Amino acid sequence: MSRNPFSEGIYKLKAKNKLAGKVIPLRGIDEDHYPVKASMLGVVPQGKVILSPDVAMFLGAVDDATKETGREIAFLLFGKTQGQVVYIDNYVADGLSDSMNAHFSPEINSALQNYIDASGKDGTDIVVHGHSHPKLGNYYNNFSLGDMEAYTKFREANNVFNSNKIWLSSCLVVDGNFNFLFYDGNDYYKFNEVYEQKSDGKLKKLKCYQSPDIIINRDREY
Ligand SMILES: [Zn+2]
Repeated sequence: MSRNPFSEGIYKLKAKNKLAGKVIPLRGIDEDHYPVKASMLGVVPQGKVILSPDVAMFLGAVDDATKETGREIAFLLFGKTQGQVVYIDNYVADGLSDSMNAHFSPEINSALQNYIDASGKDGTDIVVHGHSHPKLGNYYNNFSLGDMEAYTKFREANNVFNSNKIWLSSCLVVDGNFNFLFYDGNDYYKFNEVYEQKSDGKLKKLKCYQSPDIIINRDREY
């Protein structure tokens, strides 16, 4: 993936255009960290995400470790789609990032390559590009403009995602919420229902997008 300033600028412009009116500019905050108002995002109409017990436990552990350390964790999830229902049954992560911002290590990237190589690429497999936010500052609850860009770039850099041979979703783990997002190449949509499928088959509803969408920065409400 090219990282020259020109293509970075193009990506930023595209992400901003898609999110016009949904991004909250904050004084004194780097543009990459501007929060995106989840309440204004579209919804996948029949969207459901169903996590296997292992994956639910993993995401709970990501949330706990993120809270304890104040650091972001990057991960990928793998699964299958059936219409707009997504079944997730596998994951890969690195542990804690050495900086505040999550990044994908060579280990994660090689797990992704193995998954892509093994996939039938018939539009039934799905990868989830995920990271967590620690509870720091006043605007950690939301995807940031930089998060949206990273997701969009990841899709565009991997042709199997760009051509919908394998679907790509995104996930933000924050404060007990498992926020799944889908970009269709044109706009961003939330999954409003997330469940853990218990070993007896029963579904347990998990929290998603439940944080208030009000952002307080320097004593101003946005
Ligand atoms: Zn983020």
